[in-house]
Amino acid sequence: MNTNHLLNKALSGNNLSITEGAILFNKAPLPELMAAAHELRKQKVPSNKVTWQIDRNVNISNICIAGCKFCNFHCGIKDSQAYITTLPEYKAKIDEMLTLGSEQLLLQGGLHPKLGLDFYVNLFSELKKEYPNIKLHALGPPEIAHIANIENLSYRETIKQLVSAGLDSIPGGGAEILVDRVRKQISPAKPNAQAWFDVMFEAHRLGLLTTATMMFGHIETIEERMEHLVKIRELQAKKPDQAVGFSAFICWPYQSKGTKLEQMGVSSNVTPSEYIRMVALSRIMLPNIIHIQASWLTVGIETAQICLHAGADDLGSIMIEENVVSSAGATYSINAQAMQKAIRDAGFEPQLRNQAYEHIPVPDVVNR
Ligand code: SF4
Repeated sequence: MNTNHLLNKALSGNNLSITEGAILFNKAPLPELMAAAHELRKQKVPSNKVTWQIDRNVNISNICIAGCKFCNFHCGIKDSQAYITTLPEYKAKIDEMLTLGSEQLLLQGGLHPKLGLDFYVNLFSELKKEYPNIKLHALGPPEIAHIANIENLSYRETIKQLVSAGLDSIPGGGAEILVDRVRKQISPAKPNAQAWFDVMFEAHRLGLLTTATMMFGHIETIEERMEHLVKIRELQAKKPDQAVGFSAFICWPYQSKGTKLEQMGVSSNVTPSEYIRMVALSRIMLPNIIHIQASWLTVGIETAQICLHAGADDLGSIMIEENVVSSAGATYSINAQAMQKAIRDAGFEPQLRNQAYEHIPVPDVVNR
């Protein structure tokens, strides 16, 4: 099949199949792929603005029973390094976050064997009582499915109670590759792909903002990457008309340093050009998701800048704190000034946003 024909099909607003996506991934010249993805970006996000964010990623706990073989962050409940973040620790982190000009808190944990819904409801309520203006972007679908299973509650009821306590939006973490052949091997005790989709389906029905993600470059095939994208597109098509559903899609390459997967012979081998190709394919395969983010944290700002010409319109957060991918080798960091300069140097206008992708002014403290 001719790759030009497929790119024109996508440019005319048509969905591509798994096979068609794989053909483009394997055969389309990168400049042509980038040009088509950039054209689709202009159709969805016509302005020359590239958005970015300031948020803080705080881990609720490092105790997790999922056993993901790509994760150096988790530990068992009896391990000496096991912790559950305390309220005074949250307060210190949030106070610092506020002085740095952000009200966006990303809260992620893992699958704690004992913490049930009450724990999270109390935590969110306490945080919102103390800081009514902060936004809680918290708990990925596997965590919500796990809490629901502990409580023997439906996903819908679990999400409703979390929202009543202060949950504002759900990050798309824990997706990795949403194909069970892959999940069983890399995350043996994590809820399956269907659970991820079912939690997001209910979140969208309840009008919650969410994002979708993909961690690639480990044991999956190119077809499985495309299957992941097609399933996300299909779920987005089921959201209620008035809901945003997935506001953004973010993919990043597997970071292997020191992980069990690496010991099993699976190392990170995604090149910058493969990452750019994957970002372009994300834009091409996901016409019903507005924002495509490039992950500077895992690929570096130079590669992320090129992604802005390959379909991406967002560079995500400067991240005041991040502990999970950093523990597996992602070592890049950037401040607010460098983020804005990087966007300008790539030929775009930087625009600060919040988690809802609303444009907001840059606080004075940030550029001081
Ligand atoms: S990636 Fe998340 S779910 Fe998997 S083991 Fe680490 S903390 Fe647990």
